[in-house]
Amino acid sequence: MKCPFCGHGETQVVETRESDDGDLVRRRRRCGGCEQRFTTYERAEVAMPSVVKKDGSRTDFDRSKLQASMRLALRKRPVGIEQVEAALDRIERTLLSSGIKEMPTAKLGELVMRELKNLDKVAYVRFASVYRSFEDVDEFSRLIQDI
Ligand SMILES: [Zn+2]
Repeated sequence: MKCPFCGHGETQVVETRESDDGDLVRRRRRCGGCEQRFTTYERAEVAMPSVVKKDGSRTDFDRSKLQASMRLALRKRPVGIEQVEAALDRIERTLLSSGIKEMPTAKLGELVMRELKNLDKVAYVRFASVYRSFEDVDEFSRLIQDI
């Protein structure tokens, strides 16, 4: 790591500390040239798969967008934001651990539906009815019977 003050090529790590949740490492470094100290942060780089839309275009995974649609489905339902966040965490972990590079929106929708099904049945049906854009009544009633 080059010194940000003088550009010297050699710096020494004088202290290493992990954040409380363990996902960030902070290192204090000292420049071998000018002796100035600075801090570097180290975080694991994890890539979410990109989301492939119906028309084939790709977009970045957007947690806030997903959160917004879940909250819409959960409107006026007795489910707290912490539960939504926990559900989003689970979805993200699933995506990350899958190791896949691309995920169709339909698949992402299935993950959301699975979470909503556990959180709140009404929200689940609301979301599913928009997401699957039911083409026939049979499909809808099958879904209702599932619940
Ligand atoms: Zn320096």
